[in-house]
Order: sequence, then structure tokens, then C-alpha cells
Amino acid sequence: MKIETDVCIVGAGVAGAALATYLGRKNLRVAVVEKNMAERDVIIGELLQPGGVEMLEKMGLQDVLNGYDAQPVEGYALFMNGEQFTIRYPYGKSGRGFRNGKFLQQLRAAMLREPNVTVTEGTVTNLIEENGKISGVIYTPKNSDSPQEIRAALTVVCDGMFSAFREKLSASEKKVTSYFLGLILKNCPLPYKNYGHVVVAEPSPFLLYPINSTETRMLIDFPWPEPPRKSPELTDYLETKIAPQLPAQVLPSFREALREAKFKVMPNHHIPAKPLQKSGVVLLGDSLNMRHPLTGGGMTVALTDVKHLGDLLAQAGNLANSQILNQAIASFYANRHRHNATINILADALYGVMRNEDLKKACYEYLRRGGVYAQEPISILSAISRDVNLLLSHFFAVALYGIRQVWRSGLSSNALKRSRNMLRDAVHIVGPLVMNERPSWKWKYPIKAGQLILR
Ligand SMILES: Cc1cc2nc3c(=O)[nH]c(=O)nc-3n(C[C@H](O)[C@H](O)[C@H](O)COP(=O)(O)OP(=O)(O)OC[C@H]3O[C@@H](n4cnc5c(N)ncnc54)[C@H](O)[C@@H]3O)c2cc1C
Repeated sequence: MKIETDVCIVGAGVAGAALATYLGRKNLRVAVVEKNMAERDVIIGELLQPGGVEMLEKMGLQDVLNGYDAQPVEGYALFMNGEQFTIRYPYGKSGRGFRNGKFLQQLRAAMLREPNVTVTEGTVTNLIEENGKISGVIYTPKNSDSPQEIRAALTVVCDGMFSAFREKLSASEKKVTSYFLGLILKNCPLPYKNYGHVVVAEPSPFLLYPINSTETRMLIDFPWPEPPRKSPELTDYLETKIAPQLPAQVLPSFREALREAKFKVMPNHHIPAKPLQKSGVVLLGDSLNMRHPLTGGGMTVALTDVKHLGDLLAQAGNLANSQILNQAIASFYANRHRHNATINILADALYGVMRNEDLKKACYEYLRRGGVYAQEPISILSAISRDVNLLLSHFFAVALYGIRQVWRSGLSSNALKRSRNMLRDAVHIVGPLVMNERPSWKWKYPIKAGQLILR
């Protein structure tokens, strides 16, 4: 069987299912191949930031947030050394906490309802390349050994973090920054209902947020090169190092989860977007670009890209015209940084800050001041604001605030050394992240100079 279509999508994950629905509604013919249509049980993608909710609304997909006990998330509570404070998302906006599998099945149901969209369960094994152009895919349907093909004007590859096609279509190197160990806490009374909880812990942070009315997701960062494995040592680590840093009321549910020992572990990747532009194909979602999940930004980036790419393709009209199609792809790759740079930079910069004692403390104290010191950074984290200038101004203001705090206890050679180290580390944490996002000269040259001076 050979299908001819406008767009072929590889993978009906968050990006693929949303794009198929959006394009189908714009009267494009779409064929989707998805490896596994069953509901998945994963620890990824369970907190959608308000900026992601807004993207769903803009695409007319807001209904996928209903019908499975998703929880509103109204801001963050931060904990450090027994102290705590909260920051609400601005403008009364809220995000959502949910089981990723439930959310994705709702997105897929919307996709399956679209008459212009055909979905096949199967695994894409190859991209068809002819005269330097990708003209479709070869896939093996589920429960079959005979490969089939789909011919399309455009192939969109969104096969997720372990993409089989990234190497061919991107110059990016995949780096594992840490691992998240995920647990479910049952009937856990969070200190702040409907808030994400970040514990700025030793040696690395952990997160708690509601994913339905009875379950809380807990993600614990493991900053070492090897993933944590189920063992008596791991249980001992969780009991002796993590439990003492948890808010007291969470402890009974945490201990129960330790007894059940249903842990899941995922690697956290850093993949800057460096696509190799090729005719007839585009990379999207985690196969294109990944950042640390500490700030829960991945789905918001994916949905932002879906909206942006979908609009460009709908405007292009005739996708059979390679020149017009290639212009749309070039425009997508060239401009996506404007929408996503803040989310990408903040995620890995904040993770870098959490790994540096002086900056970590400075960041916590800075946010605790409240007012614009909390509201503007949270508007960036939630993707309500996508203003890179605002993000970088606050990032360097945190370092300067930390320096001021150090000087308060007297000027000494140690204070000067710590101050210099804070500034140097801030520049070296954020510098490479900014360069990945096509910065304006206003930031590019001062940061490059800073990197050279503060070696
Ligand atoms: C530990 C962790 C926690 C995270 N938490 C959050 C969070 O709280 N909030 C947030 O916004 N983001 C979070 N993220 C990131 C988020 O999950 C991803 O950015 C998002 O899921 C990306 O969507 P995607 O469609 O690119 O990939 P996916 O949703 O993974 O979809 C890829 C799809 O492709 C299919 N597929 C793969 N290969 C093939 C093939 N050869 N043929 C056919 N189909 C194929 C897969 O079956 C899958 O359905 C987290 C990530 C991690 C690692």
C-alpha cells in the first residue's frame, strides 16, 4: 500500500499529535505513523506551564486539558534549609499537572477525530531520499513484517528524545546532564495546594507537583554520570539524604512510595537546536531540541513550535512547490529561537545555578524579595513572557545580588575571590546557552568578552 499525502508525521507524541490535529484543521492531508498508540506510563511531561496552556488555546486545542482530573497549578513554592515562600504566576494564569499518558491520549483522540488525518500504528525505519530530497518514509506496520511506504511533500520527524533520525538531520551533540528518579506520592498533603514545589536541596534539587486529585509526582535529580539503580544503597540514599530535606507533612506518603519502590528513571538531555536544512523534511519536538526538565518547559517549546510551523505551512499553501516549502522550513528554523530562547536558556542556566553553592543561595534570596524580583523571573519560567533581555537582566542581577550579600559580611580576600567566582560562573553557565539561541549583538559581544576576561 502506498499513501500519498501533504504531510507525513513520524511519532504521535505531544508534538506530532498536536501538529497533525492543527494541520488537519487547516485542510492539509496528514498521515501519521506512531509506534505505540496505547496509553503510556512515563515520568516525563507532567507539568504544562501557562505558556503551553496558552499555545493550546491559540490552536483551539484547549479541550484536551479536560476530562481526566488534570490539576490547575498556580505558581511555585520554594524550599531551602527549612525556609519557604511562594510565587504566584502573574495575571491570574495557571498551568496544569497531569499524567502524561492521559494528556497524550486526549491529544491523540483529537487527532483521530480529524477527517484529514490518517493514523497508522507502526515503526518508521527509514526516510525515503531521492535526489537530495526527503519524499516520505518507510515503516513497518504493527503485527506485520512487510515494510510499507508513505510519500509526502513534507515529512515531519518528531520521534522524541531517543530519535532515530536526529543524527541525519541535525549537527547537535546529545549530552546527558543528569537523571531524574520519579516516584508517585499517594494522597500527599502538599504544603501549598495547586503549587509546584521546588526543594533547593543538597546535592541537587527535587520537585513535587500534583498530577491528579490523589497523586503527586516527585522528581529527584541525580547529578552523577550513572543512572540510579534499584538497590539497598539507593533506598538508603533516599531515606537518609532526601527524606530529611522534605517538608514534614509529605514524609508519610514519601515513605509509603519507598516501600512500594515503583521507581522510574529518565536521563535529562541538553540538545541545542542545530538542524541541517534538507529539502522535504523538518525536525520538531525533542528530536530537534531539549533542555533540562527542572523548569518543565519541554512541552511548551514543542507546542510553540507546532503553532509556528503549522501557521507557516498553512500560509505556504502549495506544499508540492519545493521552493515555497523550503522557504517555510528555513523561516521556521530561523525564527523559532525568538519564541523559545527564554525557555531553553532558563532551564539549563537554573540547573547550572543549582549546582553552584553561592549562586544557588543568591538565587533563592533574590526571588524571596518578592515584587518584580519574583514576578518577572516567574513570568519567564512560565513562558508568559519570552523576553530574553528580561531573563538575562535578572540572571546577572542574581549574581550581583550574591556579590553584595558576600560583601555585607566585610571586604576580605575571600569575599573578593567568591565574588569573582560568582561572576565568572554566571558568565560561563549562561554564555554557551545564549550562543545556542542566535542572540542579538547586544548580548553576544558582552558575554563573549566576559567569557574571555573571566576565564
Ligand atoms: C524526566 C523528564 C521530565 C519532564 N517533565 C516535563 C514537564 O514537567 N513539563 C514539560 O513541559 N516537559 C517535560 N519534559 C519534556 C517533555 O516530556 C518533552 O519535551 C515532550 O514530551 C516532547 O514531545 P515530543 O512529541 O517531541 O516527544 P514524545 O512526546 O516523546 O513523542 C515521541 C513519539 O514518537 C514515537 N516514536 C518514536 N520513534 C518512532 C518511530 N521510529 N516510528 C514511529 N513512532 C515513533 C514515540 O512512540 C512517541 O509517541 C520532561 C522530560 C524529561 C526527560
